[in-house]
Formats: sequence, C-alpha cells, structure tokens
Amino acid sequence: MKGKRSILRRCISCRKIFDRFYLLKITNEKKSGIFINSGIGRSAYICRTKICTRNPKLKKNLQRALKTNFDDKFYEVFIIETQNYE
Ligand SMILES: [Zn+2]
Repeated sequence: MKGKRSILRRCISCRKIFDRFYLLKITNEKKSGIFINSGIGRSAYICRTKICTRNPKLKKNLQRALKTNFDDKFYEVFIIETQNYE
C-alpha cells in the first residue's frame, strides 16, 4: 500500500516486528533520563501486552538495548504505566 508509510520496529521482548504505532517506546535521553513514549535518543520498543511488559528478562533486555542501567524508580513507573495491558 502506498501513501502513509508505516515504520516497523522490533519488540525487545518477543522479537516480533510491528508497526511502531502499536508499540510502547522507551527512550534514553542521555542528559534527562529515561522516557516512556517521548524523548529523543536511543529507543527500544515493546508490545503493549501483559506478556511482553511482564517478561522477566525485559529489564535486562531493555537495559542492554538502551545501554544504561535503570534505577528502581524508572521500573516502578514502567510497571504502573503498563498495568492495564492485557
Ligand atoms: Zn512483544
């Protein structure tokens, strides 16, 4: 289909590829910290599903993808942000 171009990204949890629209974006802005669905910088994408956001390996994968270490506070925010996913 021509016209509106979809941007495809890989979920770092299940490794499947989706249109970016369907994914949650986590961005590491070097100076300001980690952002969910905003920010400019190195980003990683995750399906908006319980399975992918509660993957026990997710934190490790995310830290590797963003080349950073999260403090617990970020992960608490992430859990709250994704708590209604099914
Ligand atoms: Zn996924």
